[in-house]
Amino acid sequence: MVCAACKYQRRKCSPSCDLAPYFPADKPEIFYKAHRLFGVSNMVKMLKNIDDEHLKDEAMKSIIFESDMRARFPATGCLGVIHMYGGMLKKSVDELDHVRNLLAYCKQHNLSSAPSTSSHFSNTPIGANLNTSFMDSTKEAQLNGDNGGVDPQGKP
Ligand SMILES: [Zn+2]
Repeated sequence: MVCAACKYQRRKCSPSCDLAPYFPADKPEIFYKAHRLFGVSNMVKMLKNIDDEHLKDEAMKSIIFESDMRARFPATGCLGVIHMYGGMLKKSVDELDHVRNLLAYCKQHNLSSAPSTSSHFSNTPIGANLNTSFMDSTKEAQLNGDNGGVDPQGKP
């Protein structure tokens, strides 16, 4: 069977063809995209310059991914995808920071207002504590203008 790269070049595909594993004949669009961006001779040259089989594989994966992204997003290519994931990562880290701060506040609040409930706190699911008990108790405290009669300093 002739690979997509050899078919395009109208030549015989040998069992030692470097491009055959990456460009199957039944998916010629993968080859066309890579060829448009890198050129078939450059891809062959790159593979010849890499000794490690694993790295060859990585290089071809990268070439195929980059050319696919360039075809999908002609203006930004891979950079647009990197920025998109960077933005998602930043959003998630911010969210994680927020949850950590809330958790720290929640722990502090529970420990200072009711020292005897420290074991109760560790048995309570964090989500339940954050979403219901903690939110409700702070809301009630704000509405009532007090802290529910519990000494905020705690008793020794
Ligand atoms: Zn081939």
